[in-house]
Amino acid sequence: MVSRVIPVGVFDLVIFGGTGDLARRKILPGLFRRYCSGQMPPDARVIGAARTEMSSENYREFVAKAVREFGVVGQGIDTDLEKFLARIEYVAIDACGVTGWNKLIKLVRSDVVRAYYFSVAPSLFGDLAQRLNIHGLTDEFSRIVVEKPFGRDLKTAKTLNTDLATYFNEGQIYRIDHYLGKETVQNLMAVRFGNMLFEPLWNSQYVDHIQITVAETVGVGDRGEYYDKSGAMRDMVQNHLMQLLCLIAMEPPSKFDPDAVRDEKLKVIRALDPMDPHQIIRGQYDGFGDGPSYRQAVRDAQSRTESYIAMKVGVSNWRWAGTPFYLRTGKRLKARSSEITVVFKELNHSIFGEQEDHHNVLSIRLQPNEGITLGVTIKEPGPGGMRLVDVPLDMTFAEALGEGSEEPPDAYERLIMDVIRGNQTLFMRGDEVEAAWAWTDPIIESWEARGDVPKIYESGSEGPEDAVQMMARDTRVWRKVSP
Ligand code: NAP
Repeated sequence: MVSRVIPVGVFDLVIFGGTGDLARRKILPGLFRRYCSGQMPPDARVIGAARTEMSSENYREFVAKAVREFGVVGQGIDTDLEKFLARIEYVAIDACGVTGWNKLIKLVRSDVVRAYYFSVAPSLFGDLAQRLNIHGLTDEFSRIVVEKPFGRDLKTAKTLNTDLATYFNEGQIYRIDHYLGKETVQNLMAVRFGNMLFEPLWNSQYVDHIQITVAETVGVGDRGEYYDKSGAMRDMVQNHLMQLLCLIAMEPPSKFDPDAVRDEKLKVIRALDPMDPHQIIRGQYDGFGDGPSYRQAVRDAQSRTESYIAMKVGVSNWRWAGTPFYLRTGKRLKARSSEITVVFKELNHSIFGEQEDHHNVLSIRLQPNEGITLGVTIKEPGPGGMRLVDVPLDMTFAEALGEGSEEPPDAYERLIMDVIRGNQTLFMRGDEVEAAWAWTDPIIESWEARGDVPKIYESGSEGPEDAVQMMARDTRVWRKVSP
């Protein structure tokens, strides 16, 4: 079944940083896929913008290469690609200077949705917003898309929010967290709020604990300079893991509407217990196995930045008091896997006289192999008495939805189309981002003040042993990180 594609209006999308890594790997191939799905109206245009001088023709070659490398492959792509490329333009422009703006003014239409993707370094966001305004390139229907990181602490996030708010109202600012664009994350909301079955059990009375894991096999790669100033807390926990926690923990919004959803997420962040920074496990990968150690990769033999974090978080509200949320994320781990696991409590009493514990477990897998499974206990088939066994029930139901299901759109594609449609539900609001920094700031400040040194863990392992011990103290175990 081909997914229902909601057409969007005519737009001009300007990608500042149109020659960068993100544009090449995600934004441009994503747009091409939406084009192939028939979602881009015939008059829609994409305008790449960066300082490098090149013609639109050369930029189209760049786009074609990116699409072939990271986008759709297969028969018939050439015809589609040619038509897609006909909508691409390029402007050489300095986001914080004077060159190129007149050309952009001539190119961008004022009678269509104008969206500006800030795929450049965050230090340029304020300048860009100001220049768009000065050059009359915006009206109340224009939107800007802002990439992470959104600040590096509460102070810088507030400054950024204030800078952007000078030229755009909150309804025009789309702060991307691509985890929210994943099919399964939205399916999680459908499962929670579209069924009678789960919501009554979705609280500390029935849920033993929740685990959120974002494990990567890669190291910092060539992002060492940026990463070493951030670490896992700023790069992953403050945004991606926090957003996932919010979706799991939030109260049902009154409707699926941007502010209703974001109000509920904000309440969760504000209900997070303050953390004792020294109860958080911080790790740094070593250089055994293939590849450099973290310190080699960032070229600082003394670096105290963490590439791994594990923590137990409490949410102090009526629903969740007493149910811990265990968060962990790290680089150079055994397998690449992002998963949320809701572990329900065991039965009060087993009529089968079972010795083993049986917990229902709901797993929401974000990558790889997006999907949702519910672990249920059934009788092991065959003779020999009543033996119980836990089996996974697939709740993604791709097959049930029909033959030939289209691949779900990549998170970026979905989010870009939401920008054009003007739907902010899956984007972070300014106050959410600030609340998240307000919670993480004291933790990071404490580590920095005390010169906290992360524990070294073996590359290719499941992370520091301390994280296992943290769970063991609570007589729990981490879910196995498997690809
Ligand atoms: P990148 O590869 O370094 O590309 C930066 C882009 O910005 C280039 O196109 C560059 O082209 C352009 N640029 C730099 N200065 C400019 C200026 N003054 N005026 C106009 N254009 C300028 O960076 P990236 O990895 O694509 O990241 C872009 C943004 O996305 C950053 O905020 C990053 O934190 C965020 N992000 C990236 C990823 C990722 O996977 N790459 C993931 C999450 C978030 P010229 O040099 O020709 O100007």
